[in-house]
Amino acid sequence: MNIAIIGCGPGGLAAAVFLKRQGHAITIFDQFSEPLPVGSGLLIQPSGQSVLDQLGLLDRIKALASPVQQLHGISVEKSRRALDMQYAHSSDGISALGIHRASLFSVLLDAAKEASVPIIANSKLTRVDETENSITPVFESGGATASFDCLIDASGAGSPLAGGQVQSLDYGAFWATVDVPKHHDILPAALDQRYFRANQMAGIMPIGLNPATGNPGAALFWSEKPENADRLIASGIDAFRKNYCSLWPEAEPFVAQLQSIEALNLAVYHHRTGMPSSSNRLFHIGDSWHCTSPQLGQGANMALIDAAALAKALEQSSSLSIARKKYRKARMAHIKLYQMLSIIFTPLYQSDSRIKPWIRDMVIHNFARWPIIRNFIAKTVSGKLFLSL
Ligand SMILES: Cc1cc2nc3c(=O)[nH]c(=O)nc-3n(C[C@H](O)[C@H](O)[C@H](O)COP(=O)(O)OP(=O)(O)OC[C@H]3O[C@@H](n4cnc5c(N)ncnc54)[C@H](O)[C@@H]3O)c2cc1C
Repeated sequence: MNIAIIGCGPGGLAAAVFLKRQGHAITIFDQFSEPLPVGSGLLIQPSGQSVLDQLGLLDRIKALASPVQQLHGISVEKSRRALDMQYAHSSDGISALGIHRASLFSVLLDAAKEASVPIIANSKLTRVDETENSITPVFESGGATASFDCLIDASGAGSPLAGGQVQSLDYGAFWATVDVPKHHDILPAALDQRYFRANQMAGIMPIGLNPATGNPGAALFWSEKPENADRLIASGIDAFRKNYCSLWPEAEPFVAQLQSIEALNLAVYHHRTGMPSSSNRLFHIGDSWHCTSPQLGQGANMALIDAAALAKALEQSSSLSIARKKYRKARMAHIKLYQMLSIIFTPLYQSDSRIKPWIRDMVIHNFARWPIIRNFIAKTVSGKLFLSL
């Protein structure tokens, strides 16, 4: 088939490589003027690693990433441990990988280029025109575009084609990338966090190579309401460092590297669980179908899994409508489960509630020590619950 993919994020690039290897003609379109990832670090869960392994890219990713063996958090109000999830407790014991977004992007982009997939920049999709026999993307720039046998929407949370209501979450976060200091006192192979109730959260996680310096890097984040972002920026970097270190004094060697407030980027979080498209020739993958806060660290992994599942469904089906049913069947339960978990867990870490962080610290954390629950949580965070790949 002749297939258009809209969006050059992890989902679009992975789908392009899978489908090109099956012999389809693939073209990726993206709104950017040149390939450029935004943001800092992310966690590649064991689920996402399985997909990268299928693509033959896992070793390249591992060379650029850091193992993350533990998710850890302390509630500073009473110096109480509130989160201690160890990947070793999942059935396969595989750790997550912390990686800079640019590293994941460059490995996938190289694989797409090696597969000779053309990437057409400056192509912002506005809508599609569909007939019985073809689907045509329509771009903001106008002009004639080719028609395709099918179109994969991988254009992320802001997709112009996605169904379902997008809900902006109350809290987002400021993110920055720094080097791992030579001497520090925070856990080395962990996504570590400090909370004051649920309205303050600071976090640090190793992300392998820092592309800006070539040194081992870390992603640093600070939970904030987007409505307060201008005030935080106006108060300057000294005030930011002071706030961060008053919640988490041991983070000082990381935070001290931030030279100006411009080093911080605000990420706004959204939640949507769209319906899979009803059109015969249009498929959604990744955030264009389902997006949520990164609290469970699943979004990029889900996009990779969607890409693998869609490629498999297309390979095993004699028509697009059969592929659609197979794709939906393979993905629906996993997506619904993780979207629901994200709705439940995000307010425990990012909200104005007093009750929810109390439940987090006093109830959930205590239950999570029981071996059976502990192992179940490790499997859940690994992204493997209800996963069919
Ligand atoms: C701060 C932060 C931290 C995160 N941490 C994690 C984590 O630890 N683990 C994890 O798994 N996930 C994490 N996520 C989520 C993850 O980044 C997303 O779920 C993932 O990037 C989705 O991939 P995607 O391919 O669907 O879309 P995207 O990565 O959003 O890519 C979409 C692409 O489409 C292009 N595009 C958009 N609109 C158009 C248009 N109209 N026309 C043409 N092109 C368009 C964009 O330029 C972009 O290149 C995090 C997200 C944020 C914001």
